[in-house]
Amino acid sequence: MSLVRKPSAAASWYLPGILAGMWFTFVKMIGNILNPKKMPTLNYPEEKYEYGPRFKGNHVLTVKKDGSIRCTACMLCATACPAQCIKITAAEHDDPTVEKFPISYEIDVLRCVYCGFCEEACPVDAIRMGPEWQTAGLNGSKFAYDIQQLAYRPQLKGGVVSVLDDQERHQAGI
Ligand code: SF4
Ligand code: SF4
Repeated sequence: MSLVRKPSAAASWYLPGILAGMWFTFVKMIGNILNPKKMPTLNYPEEKYEYGPRFKGNHVLTVKKDGSIRCTACMLCATACPAQCIKITAAEHDDPTVEKFPISYEIDVLRCVYCGFCEEACPVDAIRMGPEWQTAGLNGSKFAYDIQQLAYRPQLKGGVVSVLDDQERHQAGI
């Protein structure tokens, strides 16, 4: 006995279904033309979705008031990163009051899972997840973000200064 069921005569006649689908599409199209504000889609890239302030987008390395990088190369972010996509090389600073600084800091954003652990782990507000989320590129090298890209890319307009003031932090003992 064959287990393959033959379609009924009504189901094998496709034209009513096709016409119903076209009618539904036509009604939706007219509705969208008449009420563009009610459309559930955006005309990307002309229109972009605005995420909330807690959105975890592309990383930003913050800078001090003098424009130098805030990171102290303590490695806590790299240790906390579950994707192991942060590579830091520390170096001694000329200023004796600064213990060390990152001579190179790189995030492979193709491996990053945007969990925000690096931001949480940083004791000096040196890394943040910013509001930018467009990371298109033609080859993989564009996705290895270095210090220049993380702290001084043109969109940051000279760098993001931390809300933590160094002097206040020292006075508070943190
Ligand atoms: S967001 Fe998560 S995965 Fe990405 S660099 Fe930070 S800790 Fe690593
Ligand atoms: S970004 Fe913060 S946690 Fe990461 S190495 Fe720099 S100071 Fe340490």
